Amino acid sequence: MALVTGCAAAVTGVRGAPITVHTAPWVLAGDGLAIRRGAVAVLGELVVAVGPLREVLRGLGTRAEVVEWRGALIPGLVNAHAHLQYTDMAALGRRIYGSFEEWSTAFAADFRRRGDWRASAERGLDAVIRSGTTALSDVVTHVENLDVLWAGRVHGIAYWEVMSLRAADWQSHGRKRTVEILDNASGAAARAVGLSPHAPYSLDTQVLADLSALARERGLRSHIHVAESAAEHEYVVAGAGPLADRWRSWGYDEFALLRQGGAGVGPVAYAASVGVLGPHTHIAHGIYVNADDRAALRDTGTVVALCPRSNAVLGLDEAPVADYLREGNIIAVGTDSLSSSPSLDVLADVGELYRIARRQGYRERDLHRRLFDAVTTGGAAAMGMADRIGTLAPGKLADIAVVEADMPTASDTLAAVVEAGEGSALGTVIAGELRYVREQAPL
Ligand SMILES: [Zn+2]
Repeated sequence: MALVTGCAAAVTGVRGAPITVHTAPWVLAGDGLAIRRGAVAVLGELVVAVGPLREVLRGLGTRAEVVEWRGALIPGLVNAHAHLQYTDMAALGRRIYGSFEEWSTAFAADFRRRGDWRASAERGLDAVIRSGTTALSDVVTHVENLDVLWAGRVHGIAYWEVMSLRAADWQSHGRKRTVEILDNASGAAARAVGLSPHAPYSLDTQVLADLSALARERGLRSHIHVAESAAEHEYVVAGAGPLADRWRSWGYDEFALLRQGGAGVGPVAYAASVGVLGPHTHIAHGIYVNADDRAALRDTGTVVALCPRSNAVLGLDEAPVADYLREGNIIAVGTDSLSSSPSLDVLADVGELYRIARRQGYRERDLHRRLFDAVTTGGAAAMGMADRIGTLAPGKLADIAVVEADMPTASDTLAAVVEAGEGSALGTVIAGELRYVREQAPL
């Protein structure tokens, strides 16, 4: 249990509000800043000071409550791709599949049996908070879940997911319903809503283009699955293969890609050609990409959220992590949902990305730093929130993860955070509010 060890100076801060100073053997604040016996001072929902504990307390010139942690304080983790409402489908994510098609068959059967999506999403949010995550890209399939993040006081964006629409469906009712849902997400919750066209293969070309235009028109962020499976690649390039056959058998043979024998280019180039990519969008997965695709993502300012454990469960190939890093793409990290991943602990995916990058031959010494950035500033960039989250700095939201990592040097502590994996969060602070403390974590 983390302990509140005492009052260092007064009781109040600015205008009488209490200041809380979180301190730990290390503060890894982001932007490469590592502080031995560091501290983060919090007033209300914002960080007001970061530095060595003594200096922070001296600088406050007033009494503050001091919360002493073991391990390292780091910026709250950002999970850049999840579907909270599928949390109750966890039995699916504990298996290993031979292909995307095999998993999607199992998913569809289980999906039809489910009912209480709201409770499932709330259970997911709980698990997310317990993993040190403070912001999330949540893809929402049932409208009652659009405000789960907002109601649960977790930062991020709830992306309304749209799929399985022909151009005619979109014209007759799809567009109207999408606009109504966005209009109804009013008030404070509306600020955290985005749009998620599901994937290049599950929407007709015109619908994909219109959805992207609609998001831009309304100033919304968007998020889409792209380049996740080899079958998707074949579908988009040539309108052929097992995924194309499946969508034809479901009655979607009038999709332009299926009618015209594909786009002749892969999913990333296709998405670019219909206006999906851009600085307002981030994609999930990005596995089946070549150098031109990665360049297109960089050129359009599109962040890619890598989900290595979900990819492994589905029997997919590994994303070209080393290439993304070498070529300078902005990457983020996501867990995907429990229907395709063993947990919602994004640090487990960070550890996996570390191992994949090394296996793929990435030998640079900056790997720990790059992956630390991916799960903090990368996720913040993916959702257009870099001015508010991603680093611990005065004026930013007081979103803090406490991680079990305390080594003699800053670089070893950083390495321990990145390689820590599942279950290493000791505590979570969101907007200054202590949301999770691991039981029996003595100093
Ligand atoms: Zn997904």
